[in-house]
Amino acid sequence: MLDPKTFICSRCGECCIKYIVKLSKADIEKIKKKGYSEEDFVDIDKNLPGPTKFVLRKRDDYSCVFLVKNKEGISSCKIYGSRPSVCIQYPFLKKNVETCKPVAFSN
Ligand code: SF4
Ligand code: SF4
Repeated sequence: MLDPKTFICSRCGECCIKYIVKLSKADIEKIKKKGYSEEDFVDIDKNLPGPTKFVLRKRDDYSCVFLVKNKEGISSCKIYGSRPSVCIQYPFLKKNVETCKPVAFSN
């Protein structure tokens, strides 16, 4: 079981590719304050369960539009200080988390 107190992210970036990030209105407003417009990063996924249908946009390779990788393969988030609440909480979105590696295209 992963422990939030001791968990260290290796910055592989896998979750920023395979995880579908739901966006709240507050998330969207926070990111817009960084200078992005909704057309840059918001998509609608009508198949999502629950009332929230807004998700972070992905590139053709399924990576989040804000994901960057350096030459050493270390991933970073272009909006780290303003990232959505799901990204802040990840991987501790549920109880008893065994791994931070997401199942392919989960939410
Ligand atoms: S999959 Fe795990 S180790 Fe990789 S970036 Fe996400 S949280 Fe970090
Ligand atoms: S907003 Fe940042 S932390 Fe969240 S999925 Fe995109 S790159 Fe990853």
